[in-house]
Order: sequence, then C-alpha cells, then structure tokens
Amino acid sequence: MAASGVDERDHFELVVIGSGPAGDKGASQAAYFGHKVAVVERASRVGGGAIAVAGVPVKAMRDTVAYLTGWSQRDTYGVGISLAPDLMMNRLRARITDVVTTMTTAVCDNLTRHGVEMVRGDARLGPDRTVIVTEEDGAERVLHADVILLATGSRPFHPPDVPFDDPDVHDSQSFLSIERIPERLLVVGAGPVGAEYASIFTGLGVQVTVVDRASRMLPIIDAELSDALAGVLQRGGARLMLGANVESITRDADGLVVVIDGETFRPEKVLHAIGRAGNIETLALDEAGVTSDQFGRVQVDDHYETTAPGIYAAGDVIGPPGLASVAMEQARVAMCRAFDIPFKEHIDPMIPAGIYTLPETSMVGLTEEAARAAGDDVETGRARFDANARAQIAGLTEGLVKLVFRASDKALLGAHILGEEATELIHVAQAVLHKGGTIDEFIDTTFNFPTRTDAYKYAAYDGLQRLQARARGESVDAPVATT
Ligand SMILES: Cc1cc2nc3c(=O)[nH]c(=O)nc-3n(C[C@H](O)[C@H](O)[C@H](O)COP(=O)(O)OP(=O)(O)OC[C@H]3O[C@@H](n4cnc5c(N)ncnc54)[C@H](O)[C@@H]3O)c2cc1C
Repeated sequence: MAASGVDERDHFELVVIGSGPAGDKGASQAAYFGHKVAVVERASRVGGGAIAVAGVPVKAMRDTVAYLTGWSQRDTYGVGISLAPDLMMNRLRARITDVVTTMTTAVCDNLTRHGVEMVRGDARLGPDRTVIVTEEDGAERVLHADVILLATGSRPFHPPDVPFDDPDVHDSQSFLSIERIPERLLVVGAGPVGAEYASIFTGLGVQVTVVDRASRMLPIIDAELSDALAGVLQRGGARLMLGANVESITRDADGLVVVIDGETFRPEKVLHAIGRAGNIETLALDEAGVTSDQFGRVQVDDHYETTAPGIYAAGDVIGPPGLASVAMEQARVAMCRAFDIPFKEHIDPMIPAGIYTLPETSMVGLTEEAARAAGDDVETGRARFDANARAQIAGLTEGLVKLVFRASDKALLGAHILGEEATELIHVAQAVLHKGGTIDEFIDTTFNFPTRTDAYKYAAYDGLQRLQARARGESVDAPVATT
C-alpha cells in the first residue's frame, strides 16, 4: 500500500486513456524517461484509428490495389492484371489483416518494451485524478494517477438523416469490412478520406461517383493540384459532382436510391465520409473539471493541458487537424511538459499533409491561394513528372511538383506535389521551409540522378525563369523548364 492508502499496483505516474497514435506515443515518451505508466484501451485491438481501424488499413488497401491491378505499370508494359472480384476482395482483406496484425503487435510490443501496463476496459474520469475502468466482466478498477492523458480520439460523424443501419451504407471504418467489390460506389465527401477511397475504387475499375457540397476536391490543398487530381480521377472513369447536394439516401425493393440535386442514383454501396466526432461522451469530463467546447472538443492550452491541472489531452479529441502525425507530436509535447522532460516544447509549425490517392498528393506550407491572400508577391515554379527520368523509368509520370515562393527574395512559402512518393518527397521542401530557405536551395543542391527529388530543381528553375520573364515585362506563362 502507498502512504495514501492506495494499493501501489493501482497508482501510476501517468494513466493514458486510448492507445491510438496519441496514447501510444504519450505513454512511450513518459515511460522511456522512467515514469510508471498505464494505458487503458476499450477496443479489442490497440492502435486506434490510425493503425487498427482506418488509416493504415486504407493505405494497405491502396498499395494492394496498385499492385494487383498493375496500376503502376499498366501504361509502361501494356499489361494490366485482372482478378475476379471475389479473388481481389480476398486478397485485399488478407493483406489488410496482415498489415494490421503486424502493426498492432508492434504497438503492443513497443508499450511492453517500455514497461507500460495495458489495462483493458472502458475508462472514465473520477475525482482527484482517478480513472475508473469498467473491465470486460463489468468489474470496476480505480487507477490513481499523478498525470492523466486523454487520447480517446474520434469516430466517423453520423448525420441523423443518413441510414447507417442499412447494410450498404458505410462510414470510413465499416467500409473496410465490405464483403464484395461493388460495381457502383457513391462516395459522399471529397475530403482526404473520400478522395482516398474514391481513387482506390476507381483504380479497381469500380464505377465511382463522388459528391460534395464544396466546389472542388480536397479544399485544403492547392487549387491547381486539386484540379489535377480531379482530372486523374475523371480520366480513370469517376464522375465528380462538386457543388452538389445529397438530398436523400433511401432503399426500395431494387436497392439503394440516392437523390443528388434532383437526379436519382442507384449505387450498390454508399460510403459516407464527412466529418469526425470526438470520443468524449462517456469520459465524465465534468467530474474532473475538464471543459469541452461547443463542437465537443476538449479544450487545452499551448502545452495540451486541459482546464483541470494535471490532465492533458492530445490527438483527435482536441479537434483538427485530425492527423495521426500531429496526434503523436502533441502527446509527446504534453508529456514533456507534464514530466519536465526537456526535449520537446512545441509541435512543428510546418506540418505536412499527405493524401494517399493514386497517385499520392502532399503539401507543406502555403497554397498559392493562401500566399496571395496573405498579401505576398507570389511566384510559382512547376516541374511535371513526365519530364522526370526516374518517373519515366518507373512508368509513373502522372503529376507535378509546384513551388510557391515570394518574388522579392525567392523565400519558399509552400510546396505541393501530385505523384507517386509525394508523401515522402514533401519532406525535402519541409526541411527548406524549416530553415527559412529560398528556392535557390533546390538549384544549389546536387540530387541523386535519376530521382523524383530532382523535379524540385526543375520546378525551381521554372520559378527563376518566371521571375526573369516578369522582370522583362513578359508573360509569366512560360513553358515548364525541363533541362
Ligand atoms: C480513413 C482514414 C484515413 C486516415 N489517414 C490518415 C493519414 O494518412 N495520415 C494521418 O496522419 N492521419 C490519418 N487519419 C487520421 C488518424 O487516423 C487520426 O488522426 C488518429 O488516429 C488520431 O489518433 P488519436 O490517438 O487521437 O485517436 P484514435 O486513433 O482515434 O485512438 C483513440 C483510442 O482510444 C480508445 N478509446 C476511446 N474512448 C475510450 C475510453 N473511454 N476508454 C478506453 N479507450 C477509449 C479507442 O478505442 C481508440 O483505440 C486517417 C483517418 C481515417 C478515418
């Protein structure tokens, strides 16, 4: 027994609720620096949305589709692969299961290696920094904590007028369990999740329709890349209904009936991918004095401490951007603050975004629109992958690198990539942005040849060419440099 009368086995320096990216990394950070930690998880698998139920599984599906359909090599060798839909679905499921099993095991092993105790059950807050866990058999265990980290994440938002109880109407999680590949898929929502699924199923040869109220896909990315991605999808056979409104989703004797702006659709499946809702309802936040806002997001300060001292929150439960990458970093910063670990005081201000469409899309810094709106005298430079040796060799020539920079001093403001490996390539531009660099960094650096990275250099040259054209008072719509 501890001096307070609490059984030492139930006392932890840190109790984390949730084992997703925020919970996993927050727990590991504290345990790595010598603190006694427990993680409470109510799901049967650890890993949360990113590993167990959505993010990684969708990426595994994407890469499997790219491989099994020959998507990446079709144009090069004139050979595509055509598997019967049942076989394709089996292969997809098997691959997703493999990857998810490996990755959830890795999360478990990581926590065990750090000496973190896993507690299975549904957690809620109690008074005096306690966490009450309802275990599977209904028994309650009370954990006493010096510090608590709320990392309960989010779930797909279900608007009340969408019939999610219909077996053919899915959210981003349940869609991963579909039994068969549909012939006709309607994707509601052209944000990152909708775009990824739409692109994967277009790659599979499914008749995909994407509908969104917004006037373009992925409004967070640069408009030019958004249009380019829309073009890729349309050339693949997808129909995009942007600026359109879903009026109703119902079922009659012949199947689903969806009405969009007066037009009737009969998709075999609907994927509804609009919004996320924070998992706060069962946490008894009031009990501990933790405040949430009108959108159901736990309120935190700059170091992710909630309105209750000693209780921190990180990841989707505190709201946007809703990225695993950011959730992990927020949790690390929170734990550094909570335990005076002097290694991380804030998260990176230059967060990249990666969307795993076919091909990938990624960005960091300002879009051209945002840079112009901020009043900067903006110039741009582009290099297309069809002029890139590595892309030609691989037969994956779709897309471009676009640089956004300030005309007066060539300071890089943002970078935008559509193309294979975009989510990896973007980190080169991120490094330049971190050091406040100019597009000359790309000109001055010797890159391996042939590589996709090399496209940065030609995007920068294109930018310089445009600057010179401007100086001469000529049109800046010069052709993109290739040499
Ligand atoms: C389809 C899809 C694709 C995505 N792709 C990407 C991507 O490419 N890149 C990226 O960075 N992000 C991506 N995301 C977002 C990413 O998955 C989330 O931002 C991330 O999972 C949030 O992590 P988290 O730790 O905050 O919460 P979560 O991952 O949601 O984990 C929360 C955990 O807490 C548990 N929990 C909740 N309440 C309780 C309770 N009361 N007691 C015990 N346990 C509880 C849950 O069971 C869950 O395991 C994607 C999301 C979706 C849906």
